[in-house]
Amino acid sequence: MKLAEQLSDYDELVYVLKVSDTPDKLRSLNTKKLRLALPPILRPEKPWQNLIQTLWQAGFTRWEIGNPAGLTLLPQSTDISLDNTVSLMNTQAIEEAFSQGISRFAFSTEDTRDNIQALTRQTGQGILVLYQDPALFLSANCIRENGCSSCSKGRLEMNLTDGKGKYLLISENCLTTVINSRPFALPPTAQDIPVSGYRVDFCHRHYTIQQAKEIISKIKNRQKISGSTDGNFEKQFAS
Ligand SMILES: [Zn+2]
Repeated sequence: MKLAEQLSDYDELVYVLKVSDTPDKLRSLNTKKLRLALPPILRPEKPWQNLIQTLWQAGFTRWEIGNPAGLTLLPQSTDISLDNTVSLMNTQAIEEAFSQGISRFAFSTEDTRDNIQALTRQTGQGILVLYQDPALFLSANCIRENGCSSCSKGRLEMNLTDGKGKYLLISENCLTTVINSRPFALPPTAQDIPVSGYRVDFCHRHYTIQQAKEIISKIKNRQKISGSTDGNFEKQFAS
């Protein structure tokens, strides 16, 4: 999080909460541009309800959800943004999200350039994710053992391959996430689309501050990220 102190030109910093977080720890992140993200899986729910209430009362009013169920957990007057894990890929979905009180959303990392351009023209809204390690799979199960009777709940990583690709399996707090070994990164020309803003995401894999700064610098200088994939971005689908 020291990265926040070394960057000046960002609109907001989205931090993925842990259930053990406290108001003091979040204040120590030393940024006034903080938005708190709820993980997509919140089990058991009660400790999360308690944490949300504590943080809300402590003055944290900007939140992000990666699962529509998060809407039922947050106070109604909260500023809530929608992560790209909730796919809004047509105008009806975007209108419905705003009618439910969403303040901003990120385009799906599975969307195409053509569709994102069309949605931007029609709605004038949307954050474009330029870099991320998208979660291919999420599970509320731990990879250590079933039941986790004597689990440390700490972080454990495993490399996997299925013959087609390589994957990194990350287990933390008894939740498991699988990510591609290749990061998702859009080509520099994606920055020609007049979206509301851009996002660079370092949520799942561990990055050093230096690695994160280098990626941000390459993106700003419109350099390609080597070894990355752009998903469906340049695909064209017959209409
Ligand atoms: Zn466990």
